This record gives sequence, structure tokens and C-alpha cells, in this order.
Amino acid sequence: MKVTGDQALVKKINKSIILHMIRKHSPLSRARVSEMTGLNKATVSNLVAELCQQELVIEAGPGESSGGRKPLILHFNAMAGSVIGIELRVKQLTAVLCDLGGNVLGERDYTLNHHDLPYVLEEIHKIISELMASAPVTPYGIVGIGVGVPGMVDENGVVLFAPNLGWEMVNLRGMLESSFSVPVTIDNEANAGAQGELNFGAARDVRHLLYVSAGSGIGSGIIIGGELYKGARGYAGETGHMSIEADGRLCSCGSRGCWELYASEKTYDNADIDLPARTTPELVRYASQGQEDALRHFAKVGEYLGIGITNLINSFNPEVIVIGGALSEAEEWLGEPLRKVVAERTLPYHKQQLEITFSKLGSRGTVIGAGFSAVMHFLGNIRVTL
Ligand SMILES: [Zn+2]
Repeated sequence: MKVTGDQALVKKINKSIILHMIRKHSPLSRARVSEMTGLNKATVSNLVAELCQQELVIEAGPGESSGGRKPLILHFNAMAGSVIGIELRVKQLTAVLCDLGGNVLGERDYTLNHHDLPYVLEEIHKIISELMASAPVTPYGIVGIGVGVPGMVDENGVVLFAPNLGWEMVNLRGMLESSFSVPVTIDNEANAGAQGELNFGAARDVRHLLYVSAGSGIGSGIIIGGELYKGARGYAGETGHMSIEADGRLCSCGSRGCWELYASEKTYDNADIDLPARTTPELVRYASQGQEDALRHFAKVGEYLGIGITNLINSFNPEVIVIGGALSEAEEWLGEPLRKVVAERTLPYHKQQLEITFSKLGSRGTVIGAGFSAVMHFLGNIRVTL
């Protein structure tokens, strides 16, 4: 029989649908997979057999039966391989080793003293090598590396512009792929965080989500209809640079009154504000001791977060907003003023059935989401046999 390209494509699509159904909803029986995907039982059986042979799906003990032989239950084999997720922050490099199900197997944390490219690359190499050496033996080994960066990234993994790092046109994917010989994905950190929350965190299976990452700046990951919205060229979500004060302070982007100057760690650079410390972990410690300047500051930042979030709610009408990034650690003091401003200012219809929540993954949303991108890249390239 002559096999056409279309048959191969259809088979690949069907196999991918079955794999992701089992990945997201296992344990499942073959019959249930057939029901949920709408594919006939013979197709499901054939493709499941291939997935089992490739060790991406495993069969385990009998499940419930309504009579007759008890069916074997299918599980996604999260331990078929592992990935490394990395988040590059302004003063910190964090990395996790995850299995294919997003479970963290190991973690490393380095302090960054400056952002010269050779130095940062050396630190990234060190952190990857350490985690690779600690990885368990699995059928596929390390299948990918995902990196979240605070800046704009193109579809080839080139960091076009990261103002907080002082980087322009850095081919990060190319550099890491040539060193480690595994596929590398590079994402904007807010987009990676949105994927982390959508798949493993506070917003599982939400269709319309805004993930607001508030840390050294502000960026947003926008999920519309279950898909990440990247804009015409991939640069959507730079919400930290929307003006909220028409004649406000001058921003490094060239504009004035940008949101992140009032609602992120950039506020610590403003010498006019009295603060007992100028890092989030230290300020969280002061706030928990009741220090007044720290409490007043977080209340103000919470209000300003609420103002920007009101603009986003009125623009996008999301179901869920998740606040992540370093400042999510200050949820206890930011939450109330933020929600109060949103309640006062948002259009009435937009408020209905809207949930505002802080990241369930804490400050780990981005590393886990970056790892998830690497998992999706790997699973997107599975072979089909004809
Ligand atoms: Zn700006």
C-alpha cells in the first residue's frame, strides 16, 4: 500500500491527541479515551500500543468494570524523561529538574552579581550541569531545557531586548543548544509563568487567563481561548509599560508614568520612598513584624497593582487573574488593597465571575512553566510508525 503524506499527518495528529488526553486526565481506560477523543476503539488501541512501546504510556492494574473482564488502565509515564526549567531574574538564577508531569525532582538557586553575558552564561552552564548530573536514569534522559527571561524573545529563541539585563540580540537558544546538544526553548518569563499556572498551578484548564508577573518589572502572560496570545510579532504582554500616570516619572523605556514604576520592585529604586530595606524578602520580613514603612509601602503597591489590573480586566474580560513573580510572596499585604481598587473601579459586568488569585506555585511558576515548554516541544516531536 502506498502511504501518503496526509495519512502520516492524520496519524500523528491522532496520536498526539491521545497522548495529551492521557497526560492530562490519566488514569483512563482505552474505552474512556475513545469516548473522550471521538476516535474509534481500533485506532485508539493501535496508537496506545505505539505509545506503550515508546514508554510514554504505561498500563497498570485493572480498573472498574461494569461486568466482564476488567480493563487495564492507562497512565502517562511522567518518568519517561526529564527536563530542566530555568528562570533568569535580575539578581537571581533559579533552575529546577522536572519530570514530564511537572513534578520537581531537584532545584538550584544562584545569586547573580551582574549581567555581563559571559558571566551569566557561565552560571547558566554550571546550574544546568549540576542538575543534569543529578537526573535519574530514564528511557529518554534529559529531553529539553526551557528558559524564562525578563525580556522580549523571538520565535528563534533570540532575546531581542531585555532592558533590566541590558541585553540586546542575544542568541540564547543557539548558545545553549550548541553546548548541551538538547533542544532549548526560550520564553518571556510572564508567558512561561502563565503556562505554569495553566498546567500545574492556580488556573488549570482556564480558557481566559491573565497572568501578571510582578517582580523586577511587570509583564503579563495572556491566555485567550486556552491559547497563549503572543501578538503579531511575539511581543504582546508588555503591560508594565502601560502609562497609568500621564505626567508620571520617566521610565527607562522612554515613556512616562509606566505601571511598573509604581507597582513592582522598581519602587525600591525611588529614593523618595522611606523603606527599611530594598529587597522583597527583607521587606516581607519587616512587614510580618509590623514595621510601618514596609506595611504602608505594600499597601500602596497593592493599590497600584489594582489600578493596572483594572485596565487589563476592562480590556480582556478574563475569567481568572493570577498574580505571580517575586512580589506574590507579599500576598498577605497586597491582596486587600488590590481587590478593593478593582472592586471600586472595574466596570460592573466585567466583575461578574472574575477570580483574582495569587500564584499557587509561588515564585516557582516561571521555572516550572519554562520546563513545561520543553516538555511540550519533546512531545510535539514524537514519531509515528506507518
Ligand atoms: Zn516604561
